[in-house]
Amino acid sequence: MESFPNAKGGSVVQRVISAVRENAATLSEIDGAIGDGDHGINMSKGFGIAAERLSGGTGGLSEGLAEIGTVLLTEIGGAMGPLYGTFFRSMARESRGAEVIDAPLFEAMLTKAKEGVVSIGSAQVGDKTMLDTLAPAVEAFSASRLSGRGFADALRAMVKAAEEGKDSTRDLVSRLGRSSRLGERSRGLLDAGAVSCWLILTAMGQSIIDLL
Ligand code: ADP
Ligand code: MG
Repeated sequence: MESFPNAKGGSVVQRVISAVRENAATLSEIDGAIGDGDHGINMSKGFGIAAERLSGGTGGLSEGLAEIGTVLLTEIGGAMGPLYGTFFRSMARESRGAEVIDAPLFEAMLTKAKEGVVSIGSAQVGDKTMLDTLAPAVEAFSASRLSGRGFADALRAMVKAAEEGKDSTRDLVSRLGRSSRLGERSRGLLDAGAVSCWLILTAMGQSIIDLL
């Protein structure tokens, strides 16, 4: 199928939450090498609160993304609170009220999420941030659709580009956020936000493929 019901998207939200929480220690370790080591703590705290709030309901994709976004934006500090808060709320806003999520709508959701992150943090590709994962992933999704492929293929392209984008941060010098203070010494190590963004997009992509 080329779409899934928004109401069935709760499984996508759960998979995203699990991916972040299961990798909290790794994310903090990566952040610890060139930042302050709190990325996994911040992320798992936010996603843990969202999981609790969602535990009673069988909400769909838009509701779940909105809950994560609101918790991150209003209750989590650090750079990632507002950045990922905006990411998830943008996706939720774009899909709110839609009966089904298809490839054009998911592309619009991704695009809004990327635009939201850029509007908050003013990052550019190459600055060694989560945008180095997100921007090529969104582009790959669009390019796959443009070449006539279906939703699942576009998601596979997105996941692959997210991984390559994440890996690209290893050779970059940080120009934004806490790690930018290290200058050249930030080269040779992955960016924590790029890794968390890859985990999130991978969980999203794979769990949507399972629903199609
Ligand atoms: P803090 O930097 O406050 O400790 P976190 O450790 O939670 O916050 O998040 C750090 C991550 O945030 C970085 O790895 C980077 O990917 C991302 N980041 C930092 N500043 C920006 C920005 N201006 N735009 C996009 N992403 C950013
Ligand atoms: Mg940090």
